[in-house]
Amino acid sequence: MPIDISNIPMIDTHEHLVDESFRVSRENDILSMFLRHYITTDLANAGLSNGKIQELRDPGRPLEKRWVYLEPFWRKVTHTAYARALTIAMRDLYDIPCLDQETIAEAGRRVTDASQPGLYRKVFHKAGIESAVVHDLDSLYDENKTWNTPLPRPSDPPGLFMKVIKGSDLLHIRSQTAFFDTVTRLSESPVHSLQDYLDLVDSVFTRSPAAAAVKIGHAYSRTLASTRPTFHEAEQAFNQLIFSAQPEELASGAAVRPLEDYLWHYIIQQATLHNLPIQIHTGLLEGSYNNLDNANPRHLIPLLMEYKEARFVLFHGGYPWTRDFIALGKMFPNVWLDMCWMWVISPRAGRGMLHEMIETLPQNKVTAFGGDYIFVEGTYGHSVLARQNITRVLEEKVTEGWFSEDEACQYAQAVMYDNARQLYVKQV
Ligand SMILES: [Zn+2]
Repeated sequence: MPIDISNIPMIDTHEHLVDESFRVSRENDILSMFLRHYITTDLANAGLSNGKIQELRDPGRPLEKRWVYLEPFWRKVTHTAYARALTIAMRDLYDIPCLDQETIAEAGRRVTDASQPGLYRKVFHKAGIESAVVHDLDSLYDENKTWNTPLPRPSDPPGLFMKVIKGSDLLHIRSQTAFFDTVTRLSESPVHSLQDYLDLVDSVFTRSPAAAAVKIGHAYSRTLASTRPTFHEAEQAFNQLIFSAQPEELASGAAVRPLEDYLWHYIIQQATLHNLPIQIHTGLLEGSYNNLDNANPRHLIPLLMEYKEARFVLFHGGYPWTRDFIALGKMFPNVWLDMCWMWVISPRAGRGMLHEMIETLPQNKVTAFGGDYIFVEGTYGHSVLARQNITRVLEEKVTEGWFSEDEACQYAQAVMYDNARQLYVKQV
């Protein structure tokens, strides 16, 4: 029962794409881009050392020599969905059927040659992506870190991206130095108290009228669970940590916890006040070695219970807690479920989820695609996997007699476009 969703445009709910001007001026060596994330984790877990990965990313070294070293590891991961996305991108965008010793030099040339203004628009058009919600990670490449600010920067290219407020940078206190760096970038007024800092957080929201959402990724460094500290408890932690004579004390998670938890609540309140969805990382953590338990979406339940007016968008299918994730969508009117990253984590798990979400949830609560890539070729490859697998699920649902063909296409329109538009595009 063929279903055709190729003409349905997508709003991509989550990307980390660097601005195009940066991509075309500097970041266009194939391995330096492709080995930035995801496949790199597969390669590292297959035995490739971090030191070697750094060398392989170095555009100053000859590409073919780098490939010779990489290839045996590459062969160990070519069947993963991370690799599949790249293979699809190389095939469709650059007419390179597979990356190997024969093709790597030409592949590298084509990727570099394509790095011209207009690249993103062209790739988005081919992928059928109308626009994307972007949490830019340009600071990853910027030695001076001058772009590392929670404020959304102007979009490049304009009109294609909707930027987010980087909420984690406001609430996760990594060190005194990092804290005062953030403060200096955000304001000329000094911060002497917790109240001063909360005023600064307010100002980030009021200065970001074009923001599409607030993004919180703190599960990478701490639990999603939150206590309910009082202002006084948070203030004590703030005074002790931020103005401590021994900055190293900040390394202690327990000491910083009342402050971070207080800020976490405060950011939810601010987002609600400004009618911004709150995108929250749940589930799988990118990279090797981290505490997966921190990212269990069930840790969020007390917050979901408390903030009934907030719009919580839970990310990444909560993988591997996909059923818990779906159950949260079924139980909480203030929860939206987002499948960003899912189709390159596991298409099969994504299909299973989508089947179950069709059977359990109102269709306005699901957003089915977010590329979650730093480089646009990844976005493209992921989008193809998303369309293929969404199509397959819908065809299965039609064959099972659950959907008519019309219902299946209408569902696709909702989860690929309408729901994301409702959440993120400013209605005028
Ligand atoms: Zn992400």
